[in-house]
Amino acid sequence: MADLGNPKNTIEILNKYKFVFQKKFGQNFLIDTHVLDKIIRAAEITKDDFVLEIGPGIGTLTQYLCEHAREVVAVEIDKKLIPILSETLSQYSNVTVLNSDILKTDINKLVQEKNGGKPIKVVANLPYYITTPIIMDLFERHIPLDNVTVMVQREVADRMEARPGTKNYGALTLAVRYYAEPYIAAFVPPNCFMPRPNVGSAVIRLTLHKEPQVKVKDEALMFGLIRASFNQRRKTLVNGLYNSEELNFTKDEILGAFNEIGLSHDIRGEKLSLEQFAHLANQLCSQNNTD
Ligand code: SAM
Repeated sequence: MADLGNPKNTIEILNKYKFVFQKKFGQNFLIDTHVLDKIIRAAEITKDDFVLEIGPGIGTLTQYLCEHAREVVAVEIDKKLIPILSETLSQYSNVTVLNSDILKTDINKLVQEKNGGKPIKVVANLPYYITTPIIMDLFERHIPLDNVTVMVQREVADRMEARPGTKNYGALTLAVRYYAEPYIAAFVPPNCFMPRPNVGSAVIRLTLHKEPQVKVKDEALMFGLIRASFNQRRKTLVNGLYNSEELNFTKDEILGAFNEIGLSHDIRGEKLSLEQFAHLANQLCSQNNTD
């Protein structure tokens, strides 16, 4: 099968199957061989690797993964793409295509069966309508991961790797940093896709921390503090936490914790690093336990 990174080959296969793009599935297929090479390099794929691909489409990136990895499983939600994938991947014996929604796929079972439970690489040109849910789902399910290398909207990549105090810094930045180290490997313009998306894109690699970067007694409380802080960005952190419907602290408890860890009373949440949010969560947690 010819390289689908070449737009001529992509058009030919789409016409042959009379394929109609489904907007609801976020279908923008890659048609640029340089970008495909960059994704493989950024993910550091080797012949030892088992790779999970999310949303293979017509198999463009899958072909590159099959060439470079030991084994690939590609999970595609759109059943109309399955016969196309049978043709475009027919020359590879190291790939399995599953017709399923990634959010409903038992990935832990795949990791056991295909990689003996060892950390896997995930690679995808993600459907933009569910980028964040897919990434957070991988993290929160505690799937053994080496790295996750994905094409996302440029704006989402910028939020993931933002620094404290900048406009892009927010709950997503902190959630990603808790689990992984982000690195933007490439910016990708709309003309590298068919059809062209309305926004710029970026390839971002998230390398999972081997050891947790911060020690948190109550993970859910820390994420509650983070959400409360960025839901009310314009307020001081004290007021953001006090007014949050999700949290249940008195103003005195909050001010007490701020004093204990040396936070100024008028600081805004966007100035706090992940370590400071962890510190604050631990302080509030220990205050509550001694009440
Ligand atoms: N990998 C191909 C490429 O780079 O050309 C296609 C990428 S396209 C942006 C996203 C793909 O994800 C589509 O094929 C779409 O049908 C699929 N998809 C959308 N939602 C999905 C889900 N929940 N689970 C699995 N695949 C999904």
